[in-house]
Amino acid sequence: MIIIVKPEVRRGAPEIQQILDLAARYPGVAARLHVVEGSTRSLMEVYLIGSTEEVPLEPFQELDVVERVVRVSEKYRMIGRHKGQIDYEGFQYQGVTFDQETLHVAPGLCAVDTREHAEQMFAALQDVGITTTRMGAYKPRTSPYDFQGLGKECLPFVFEAAGKYGIRVIAMEITHESHIDEIHTALDAAGSPTGVLLQIGTRNAQNFELLKFVGRQQRFPVLFKRGMGITLEESLNACEYVASEGNSRIILCLRGMKTNLGDPHRNFVDFAHVPVVKRLTRMPVCVDPSHSVGSRARAPDGLSDVQHVTAQGVIAGANMVLVDFHPEPGTALCDGPQALTLDELRPYLEDIAIVREAYEKRRKLARDHASSARGAGA
Ligand code: PEP
Ligand code: MN
Repeated sequence: MIIIVKPEVRRGAPEIQQILDLAARYPGVAARLHVVEGSTRSLMEVYLIGSTEEVPLEPFQELDVVERVVRVSEKYRMIGRHKGQIDYEGFQYQGVTFDQETLHVAPGLCAVDTREHAEQMFAALQDVGITTTRMGAYKPRTSPYDFQGLGKECLPFVFEAAGKYGIRVIAMEITHESHIDEIHTALDAAGSPTGVLLQIGTRNAQNFELLKFVGRQQRFPVLFKRGMGITLEESLNACEYVASEGNSRIILCLRGMKTNLGDPHRNFVDFAHVPVVKRLTRMPVCVDPSHSVGSRARAPDGLSDVQHVTAQGVIAGANMVLVDFHPEPGTALCDGPQALTLDELRPYLEDIAIVREAYEKRRKLARDHASSARGAGA
């Protein structure tokens, strides 16, 4: 059950306690307050979890502080779309709005290898006016003998340089809860010049303790990568783990699925699921063409496979593109073969702009058609 608090009620207002006190009267029911900073208003909702079947709506509805009470289905209670719920407006972080309408491109290094490469990447982004990126510090590698990322060593120079080049948000994978503390400390020490989106990698998609941990902290939003060998439902339930612990600022990232021998792409591209995730949940949806394709292979038409699948995600309404670039892919210590070069950044973005415009036209066409059909029915 979701109790939606009136918009004029301030965060921390004493009346909210009335809802929590009322909920406490029902045995087996826990109440959790969720605050989502939307672009035009902040939304406060109290979620009742547990045996809520017998809990009546009316006593909550009668409270002055309550705008509406919604009974939700069992599935995806926190992240799902529920009838009667106020339209979710996404969330704001570092002045950037992440929702199901916007599109952000986050090109960056799969793994930070040198300070120079991080700076070159940031400078290239600043040149094209991009403020969102990816920078891997903690790398989960298949072989223990492969480069494992620079870890906390690189955080001071990455954050400092990000501030220098106006980068607002960095997607950074964490594989252990201690990494969050390290990021916290390094960001504070640098004077918080940028923000971090905590990336949960595909290999940790069902690491429930890690999911609960990122859900319990409020400082950083989460970029959750779909599990490569589990069902979509299992991945969405994993996001539910994060949200049910208190952090519903989650972006779901599609990154391809494991197939036999990974041929011809590193993973089977699953971007047809962009609209599916948007329909089932309120989360913004990201696509990662680099980890899906795994190479810089080019089709006879001159476009790389990475560009082709990026376009598939964007034409389907993706809200974010996480993509590997590197100043010198030949020397990259991780995933060099799939990284695009910095001179490819501008044409890559121009290509995305063409596709995004086409998506916006398609969306307008569909909406116009739906409203004229409604008009005809009235
Ligand atoms: C990554 O984005 O660097 C990464 C390791 O991705 P995934 O978890 O999707 O394999
Ligand atoms: Mn990678």
